[in-house]
This record gives sequence, C-alpha cells and structure tokens, in this order.
Amino acid sequence: MIPINKPWIGEDEKREVLSVLEENSLTTAAKEGGKRVQEFERLMRDFLKVKYVISVNSGTSALHAALLAADIHNGDEVLLPSFTFVATANSVLAVGAKPVFVDINKADYTIDVENLRKKITNKTKAIIPVHLYGHPSNMDELLEIARNNSLQLIEDACQSLGSAYKNKQTGTFGTMGCFSMYASKVLTAGEGGAIVTDDYDIAEKLKMIRNHGMVEGYDTKIFGLNLRLPELSAAIAKIQMHKITQIFQRRRHNSKLMTELLDTISTNNVILPRESQDKKYNWYLYTICLSNNKLRNLLKDTLNHYGIGAAVYYNPPVHLTPYYQFKFPSSELPNTIWAADRVLSLPIHPLVTEEQITDISNIVKEVITKHQ
Ligand SMILES: *Cc1c(COP(=O)(O)O)cnc(C)c1O
Repeated sequence: MIPINKPWIGEDEKREVLSVLEENSLTTAAKEGGKRVQEFERLMRDFLKVKYVISVNSGTSALHAALLAADIHNGDEVLLPSFTFVATANSVLAVGAKPVFVDINKADYTIDVENLRKKITNKTKAIIPVHLYGHPSNMDELLEIARNNSLQLIEDACQSLGSAYKNKQTGTFGTMGCFSMYASKVLTAGEGGAIVTDDYDIAEKLKMIRNHGMVEGYDTKIFGLNLRLPELSAAIAKIQMHKITQIFQRRRHNSKLMTELLDTISTNNVILPRESQDKKYNWYLYTICLSNNKLRNLLKDTLNHYGIGAAVYYNPPVHLTPYYQFKFPSSELPNTIWAADRVLSLPIHPLVTEEQITDISNIVKEVITKHQ
C-alpha cells in the first residue's frame, strides 16, 4: 500500500523523543513553553522570516486561537471557502461566529475573489483564505479587499508550509497565519500546530490564549484554553524542521517526475497541477482534475485496487456535510461542486520511489486513454 501521505521519521526524531523522556521534561505550563517548543518556534521563525511563532497542539487550535486573538465572536461573519478541511469552518463556530461559504476558482481551487466581494456584509469581520493542496491563494487581491473593508485576514496555511506567493511565504501575509503539524502534513509532530504573526501584541495575546489566559500563572486576564504543544511532539517537529529542505526537494522531485510522465497523455480528459511565476507550491498534494465524475471515481477505484492511496480532498465540501447543510444552508457554489466531483490526489510524498511514481503514472495513463 502506498498511502497518500506518510511521515518521514528517522533516527534523529527517535533520539530526540528519547531524550525528552530521559530528561523527564514532558511539558511545561510556563508562558514561553518548554525547551523544545522554544527551539522549534525559533527554527520556524527563521524559516518563515516572521517575528513571532506560537506553537499549539493542532492546526485546529491554531485557527481557534487566531480567531480568539482577532476578537471574532457571536454576531460576526467570517468568509471562507467550503472547499477545505472542515476544521477551517469548525474553528469559526468555536468562537460563536457564522461561517459564510465562498466559491473557489477553477484554476487552482483557492478562494474566488469575485464571489468573495459579493458576500461581504456589514457583519463581515474576517476572511480565512485556505492555501489548499499547497496552492497559494490570490494574496494581492485578498489583501486589497481586506484593507478596503477593514477585515482581518487570517490565513489557513495548514497545507502550505513552504509554498510562496510572489516569493513570500504563505501564512505570512495576513494578521496571522495558521499551520498544522498533523501526521499527514508536510512537516509533522504527530499532532501540532502554530500561529505566526509580526504583531507583538497579538503574539502576547496568543501565548495567553494557549495557556488559560494566564501570564504568570493563576492570573487569568483573558479567555484561554490549554492549547499547549507537548515536548514529545515539539521534539519531532524540531528535527523535522532541520530536514525541511530535503522534504521539499523530494516532494518537488516526485511531482516533477509525475508531471513529465503524465504530460505524455494526449487527451484533454485530465488537468495536471501547474505552478506559475507568482505561485510556487510545496507539493503537499499532487491533485489532478478529471473531465467528469465517473472517470474520477473509476480512476480512484482502480488505483486503490492496486494499493495506491489516491484520495479525494474534499467530497462532500463542508457546506454539504450533514451538519453544515442543516445548520448553515449556503448559497450555490458551482465551482466547488465542479471540483469536488473531479479532483483526485496522487501520492508523491518523500517516501514514494521513482519506480512507484512510474507505476502510478502508468495506471493513470491506461485508465484515461481507455475511457476517452
Ligand atoms: C489539517 C488542516 C487543518 C487542521 O489541522 P489539524 O492539525 O488536523 O487540527 C485545518 N485546515 C486545513 C486546510 C487542513 O488541511
């Protein structure tokens, strides 16, 4: 079985985890966090070239904490794509605000700025663009819309660590950027997350929010929760950060090879993912788009039959899940439905070999050329 994603864990991660156990330093409720939490945060700061990184225990917690820090609450509306992992919308509900779903563009499946403009009301307080699959959203337009309408911009960069828009890292454009270190993500801690910002006051607030709103201890000043990243997880994340360049190189190498092999198909039944001058991908997911739902499902079933973990992200989209459909009926999102019916992600993670990429591409070619 070749899973769609798999953590790349080596001897260094094992050694670091053992040293946490040997030191008996599993976690700390101190404001700045434990030794490895601080080391990880420093490495991520240097990598992203941001002033502050506040690690937390998941990407969901990162989004939740960011919305709390932005003072988004009951009565506020937050604009976000429906074509995302449900955590983006759930974090909006966690602060009592209303998620308003926006359509995506067909070019790279990120939030559609024209549709977004139409959904701004006098209750709108924030936009959460999602850099889905590691594809950067159209940040110039989003920054302009946010500025002109006094909206907070909180990036869901949970899938896009290392992706860049006009040579600037995703997650570093908005007031805050949120990252995930779940096991399937580009850089993992098992579970974990981080919020990044250049704003000192927001950083201080986030440190309080992850620790019950306390500063010194037992002095709760604002609402907070326990969102701390344990040292065992920080140990893994810290070592992963040391090999982040290698992780990106392997993903890029595998994606490039996949594109070279699939580019030989002479049919317009499939669209391959392409970078552009302005948008560089971390290749978190290599997502192709088939001409129709039947072909997509057939290709997925065939690949799965051969032990290849091709997967659909996301069907149903959030606004059509049972809970959201019932509680937050949305207007029609035609491009979202179009994509949910047609996309398919193929494994290209660092542990996939060139031989496996060739095998995967051969199955894709065979199925597609047979069903013109
Ligand atoms: C993974 C992910 C999250 C949530 O991260 P967790 O660490 O799983 O809580 C949020 N948004 C997107 C787009 C994600 O892919």
